[in-house]
Amino acid sequence: MGEIAEEMGVEIRLNTPVESLIFEGKTVTGVRIEGEEILADKTVVNADFAHAMKTLVPDEKRKKWSDKKLEKKGYSCSTFMLYLGVDKKYDLHHHQIYASSAYESNLKDITNHRLTWDDPSVYVQNAAITDDSLAPEGHSTVYVLVPVPNQHESIVWDDIKSDFRDTIIKQLAKVGYDDIADHIVSETIITPDDWGASDIYRGAVFNLTHDLKQMLWRRPHNRFEEANNLYIVGGGTHPGSGLPTIFESARISSKLVLADLGMRPDWNGVDSWFKDVKRPRVAARPSAQPQAIASNNGEGHAV
Ligand SMILES: Cc1cc2nc3c(=O)[nH]c(=O)nc-3n(C[C@H](O)[C@H](O)[C@H](O)COP(=O)(O)OP(=O)(O)OC[C@H]3O[C@@H](n4cnc5c(N)ncnc54)[C@H](O)[C@@H]3O)c2cc1C
Repeated sequence: MGEIAEEMGVEIRLNTPVESLIFEGKTVTGVRIEGEEILADKTVVNADFAHAMKTLVPDEKRKKWSDKKLEKKGYSCSTFMLYLGVDKKYDLHHHQIYASSAYESNLKDITNHRLTWDDPSVYVQNAAITDDSLAPEGHSTVYVLVPVPNQHESIVWDDIKSDFRDTIIKQLAKVGYDDIADHIVSETIITPDDWGASDIYRGAVFNLTHDLKQMLWRRPHNRFEEANNLYIVGGGTHPGSGLPTIFESARISSKLVLADLGMRPDWNGVDSWFKDVKRPRVAARPSAQPQAIASNNGEGHAV
């Protein structure tokens, strides 16, 4: 995707955090990175929504999504991760989910910022059973995801992560990894505090919760309602979290940017706007119309 974008003239800068958005009144005119100002007709923010608001858009410019209101929103669970390298191959399924015998109380613990120590639910991935190239001959990788509460002052992960890790290693016996403790040759642990330190608000890796108050159009809108020329995209935005939905968010934001630039969204020669949804207003800028898109050979190009 990066290569295609570059062929089309996009300059990609990796490991270059945006320090701030440039505002002229209510209008975003670009971004500041490494002290440099990059001006743009339209700016799209893909960073975690609440984190982006708190770090890139000054509180006084936000009413609907002010810091105070963001505090009150619901945020998803987080995850405790073990990435294990083991000197053995397990003849077990690629994906396994172990559901706690106290499934409902495990879920309540997660939403009430309590850690389940007794029989937590666990997802385990044994991807090397499908793809040999993931580890050296005779070795494999085991990925363990435990749904846990998002960041909260009552849980200090540095104090407990080692004990929780031991609990989870024991838990793995329930899905067939009974001797895994003797075969671990490398190990990385990621806690909600690590996710939080990676620019994810409260370490809530699935973003704003999907409840009736925060779903679909009740999420932050892709054409951001509190600033001109600013678009947002990703799990914390409309229509919602989860990768297929996030791709849809990207499609919607792209269409809105194109429409607002006076370009008909038209990919692969197909007019892809939703038939039953009103089109965004397309500005009258004939010179900005896409030049040529039609391609019916399956190798379409966006313009
Ligand atoms: C362990 C784990 C397992 C998951 N499993 C699944 C799954 O099975 N299915 C599923 O649907 N979802 C899953 N998810 C959730 C999914 O990964 C996220 O919902 C999704 O990645 C969010 O996409 P996004 O584009 O909104 O943001 P991200 O993928 O978080 O991308 C945002 C990017 O913005 C960057 N950024 C932040 N601030 C700045 C800045 N100031 N300047 C420049 N860049 C910045 C960040 O570094 C990041 O690269 C999982 C998440 C985790 C952590």
